[in-house]
Amino acid sequence: MKMSQARLASCIPVPMDQKALVGVIEKAKDWALMHGVGMRDKKHFTKDSIQIAPFVLLPSPFPRTEFTKAVELQQVLNELMHKVAHDEEFLETTLQNALQVDEFTASLYDIWVTVRKEGIVQSVSLGLFRSDYLMQEPDNNKIKQVEFNTVAASFGAISSNLPAMSRYVLRQLGHGDLIKNMPENKALSGLCGGITEAYDLFGVPGAVILFVVEEVSYNICDQRFHEFQISETRPEIVIYRRTLNEIYEESALNDKKQLILEGKPVAVVYYRSGYEPAQYPSSREWDARLRVERSTAIKCPSIQYQLAGTKKVQQALAAPGVLEKFMGGGASTGRVRDIFTGLYSLDFDDGGERAVEMALADAERFVLKPQREGGGNNLYGADVREALLRMRHSRERAAYILMERILPPLVSGYVVRPGGPVPPPLCDLVSELGIFGVIIGTKEKILCNRQVGHMLRTKLADANEGGVAAGLGALDSPYLLDL
Ligand code: ADP
Ligand code: MG
Repeated sequence: MKMSQARLASCIPVPMDQKALVGVIEKAKDWALMHGVGMRDKKHFTKDSIQIAPFVLLPSPFPRTEFTKAVELQQVLNELMHKVAHDEEFLETTLQNALQVDEFTASLYDIWVTVRKEGIVQSVSLGLFRSDYLMQEPDNNKIKQVEFNTVAASFGAISSNLPAMSRYVLRQLGHGDLIKNMPENKALSGLCGGITEAYDLFGVPGAVILFVVEEVSYNICDQRFHEFQISETRPEIVIYRRTLNEIYEESALNDKKQLILEGKPVAVVYYRSGYEPAQYPSSREWDARLRVERSTAIKCPSIQYQLAGTKKVQQALAAPGVLEKFMGGGASTGRVRDIFTGLYSLDFDDGGERAVEMALADAERFVLKPQREGGGNNLYGADVREALLRMRHSRERAAYILMERILPPLVSGYVVRPGGPVPPPLCDLVSELGIFGVIIGTKEKILCNRQVGHMLRTKLADANEGGVAAGLGALDSPYLLDL
């Protein structure tokens, strides 16, 4: 793959002296382990230990103006997505072709239709969102939105610890003076504040919070920190963790449509699972999901938030006139439009045909994305071409969107991985910024809308994707550059 060669300067000169590097990595690993910058070992799983999560040793450079722009846009994007999620007609029109061929999205959509027919008993939605960006190097490193996550947006908790780790590392290297360029990150308290605010809105004494979790949680720190934080700030609130299958077996709806677990009504359901097909291995998980959606519990996300977070919706928002419809034509509409990169529908119409032609002519310029979350589902380069040739005349293609490939600037850095070489090689890396937002509201009224923090995730420049849980990306924190 052709990568742009432009580079952002590292916060301190690299390569580093090898002895200093080995010494500081040993300290940083211990810091990470002792502050929960960790994950469970996938190969040798045990609940008795965690290992370091992959991390970047030095905070990676990010232009301050672009960071600030992303932070300032978050409330605007929260509100936009809230409005989109509550526009039934827009969601239906946007998703209809994909629903024909994408069973998973169709199952979610069916649940939404069912609960609307039966009558919505909880009008309040809770969103813990994350908007992700790459810098577009050929366009002055301006940020471009990669995607908007509305379900199980992770790494707010661990990322809140990262600046302190980077500060420690910089001090050990005699560069404490650089710490002033590292923004604080309060994502964890902000996200938890959203959960407890929703809990208070539910307003039933003795109600509980339910985290919907995977069968096995490798990213355990990132979930438990939320529990610890809520337990610290609101000691009276009990939190349960259950899989969808356990919810199927252990929960019930009472005559008031409250979701009852362990004899208590559930106030807030926070999904950290349930965003990909493998998390619904049987009809039991779908039944459990429907039961939760039918209940009075405040869902994070509500099913319409989850649907609004699909790639198809992202693509539809980039079409002419759509932002204007939701936001009016003011200055913030222009600012949102500015972070969009080329997004194209592959529906069977003139526009779709043009998009197919365009991608076949220069596949390297594009990414092909299905309606999936969680990483590892997108196609790049030669695979885009192959898939389009295969699907060109099949309805299947409507389940995908085509996106212009963003070309981020390179940064030189050291990635520390569990079991990895010490010292690690100096590598070409690229960083992806995520900004967290909290929103609570009904169709008519937004009750809370905040930007609460960020995460930086960095991957090898030649890797297509950088999921940290998938072992490709590494946790990082931004070092703000005044260019
Ligand atoms: P998922 O829902 O699986 O996280 P994303 O849209 O976030 O899907 O894509 C996964 C990863 O692929 C991103 O984190 C990013 O590294 C890479 N990626 C996605 N879209 C683009 C793009 N348009 N240009 C360059 N890289 C991209
Ligand atoms: Mg993503």
